[in-house]
Amino acid sequence: MALKLYNTLTRKKEEFEPLEEGKVNIYSCGQTIYLDMHIGNAKTYAAWDILNRYLTWKGYDVFHVMNITDVGHLTDDSDQGEDKVEKEARERGIEPRELVTEQVQRWYEEMDRLNMKTHNVNPRATGHMVEMIEAVKDIKENGYAYEENGTVYFDVMKFHEDHGYPGVGSMNIQELQAGAGGRVKEEEQEEKKSPLDFALWINADPEHIMKWPSPWSEGYPGWHLECSVMSSKYLGKRFDIHTGGVDHIFPHHPNERAQCMAMNNLVEEPVNYWLHSEHMTVEGEKMSKSKGNFYTVREILEKYDAEVVRMFFASSHYRKQVDFNEEALESAESNLEKLYNTLWNVENSEGGEREKLKGEVEKFEKRFEEAMDDDLDTPKAVNELVKFSKKVNKNLDNRKEVLEEAAEKIQELGRVLGLKLNLEEEGGKIPEKAVELLIEIREEFREEGDYERADEVRDVLKEGGIVLEDEGGQTVWKRK
Ligand SMILES: [Zn+2]
Repeated sequence: MALKLYNTLTRKKEEFEPLEEGKVNIYSCGQTIYLDMHIGNAKTYAAWDILNRYLTWKGYDVFHVMNITDVGHLTDDSDQGEDKVEKEARERGIEPRELVTEQVQRWYEEMDRLNMKTHNVNPRATGHMVEMIEAVKDIKENGYAYEENGTVYFDVMKFHEDHGYPGVGSMNIQELQAGAGGRVKEEEQEEKKSPLDFALWINADPEHIMKWPSPWSEGYPGWHLECSVMSSKYLGKRFDIHTGGVDHIFPHHPNERAQCMAMNNLVEEPVNYWLHSEHMTVEGEKMSKSKGNFYTVREILEKYDAEVVRMFFASSHYRKQVDFNEEALESAESNLEKLYNTLWNVENSEGGEREKLKGEVEKFEKRFEEAMDDDLDTPKAVNELVKFSKKVNKNLDNRKEVLEEAAEKIQELGRVLGLKLNLEEEGGKIPEKAVELLIEIREEFREEGDYERADEVRDVLKEGGIVLEDEGGQTVWKRK
């Protein structure tokens, strides 16, 4: 079956064909590492984690690069304002490098807790200063950049005449010019040939901390430059998939594309598929610090299990705006519990003689693949998982091997969506969710007066190292 992806460049779903058979190169715009990752960032990274996992599952050899921005991302898109890293470091009273070291470590911890697959490379901008300066030289030599007072600008109109710009996103050049013109300050207007021009290299103010010598000035690179330079370095001049958030559709990605073509003298498209993930709202509103609905991953993981959060991410389509709210999280939790419940039941069932599920496993896999092939329709894929797990649950009298095959398929496909589905997380431990479910089941038996079966549940838990204690009408449990 063929995977189709929605390509922002052409604004349609296209059949995915890699540049090199069997191999997929992906570049994802990553974190500007000055604050903790927020839940919206995590939603986007989870989408690309699923993309990576799904392509790998389909048999491709995936090479995935996600950058870490540690310099040059200004507080304003039009080359104005402070460097975000420097600003935050100054506010905390620490060195910018100290801030980056701390934040990178936190980022890795959070990505790990969310079960995001390790990328092949997480290049950092400051580690590629030589390459970035070389790229600016190349772009200038190829006629697409000019220098004003130690700052080097990309000549957008010149590039547009030769190659077309932006090419990514739905806006046309006139709208862009009008829009950009309204934002740009007067002194900058004078320096730039066109308000659309953006800085490749910025002449640093004397008080600026992070700066490097260059042929033009002691300065620092523009934010857009790093992605072009690092993607070319690790994935080649042309590669398969470039991902980001919808906020990258303009200006970051058209700028990246233009730089790539200008520095590498390309006439072909540098990237074949541009994928963009939609924003997340929180309780119906746009996330913002001032509204107090801005949540970091750390804050969310204090309240919710990481796997529930991953189930929540998988339950919406990456190109749809999704709302983060209590109900949605509860629904994700309930779906996840259903999967665990089935896995638990299969493991603890002796099975029977029937074989009804035998042909169903293959059909389930096919439906899952069909959903994912349709531009990664993860909500549909989740639905297939839940439906199939219900079916397995109703057929626990099938032969044990058949049941096990079904359970393994649930695990295999669930993991494509970034779930863990490990019944025994470590050393034979019954997961908390399963313990709580069993306690509920035991409670139901007791309410029905079926004490024999209630005791059976208690014994099963005991075998798994869980001791129950009934205290004042409530059951508490602990691990032996
Ligand atoms: Zn980027």
